[in-house]
Amino acid sequence: MATEKITDIRHMLHWPGHMETDYIYTQGIAGEKFFSEIKENEKIYGGRCNHCGQVFVPPRLYCERCFRKIAEWRNLGSKGVVYTFTVVYIDIDGAKLDEPIMYALITFDGAEGGLIHRLGEIKPHEVQIGMPVEAVFRPQAERTGSINDIRYFKPQS
Ligand SMILES: [Zn+2]
Repeated sequence: MATEKITDIRHMLHWPGHMETDYIYTQGIAGEKFFSEIKENEKIYGGRCNHCGQVFVPPRLYCERCFRKIAEWRNLGSKGVVYTFTVVYIDIDGAKLDEPIMYALITFDGAEGGLIHRLGEIKPHEVQIGMPVEAVFRPQAERTGSINDIRYFKPQS
């Protein structure tokens, strides 16, 4: 068989020999900064393009507007606004949840993008678009460097 494209799946073979098959996915440079600031300092960071000034959250390495490398961080604190939300009453199997779960897209002042996260310390009928919220962090010892180091966002007090 001389073709490079496989047209018959029975011709799919593995490579013989000792090929390394372990993959380690990292969070990348921007993700590393983002998650370590949440874990260590309870701060949400965006990346700022110093060509056009746009701030992106979560941070990314390249500006999607001008394709320049982003090398500046912007501390956005831990407070944002509910851009939109949904209330979930059933689980993935269709069974009714004891307590509804609220998910929101949280946006941050001066930044493009946002974080999708749970809402807490609020009832579904109290949630409003545009409502100011703040992150509630897990205790330091329980943090793992993931987005779940933020337990949820609650209404600003
Ligand atoms: Zn830019």
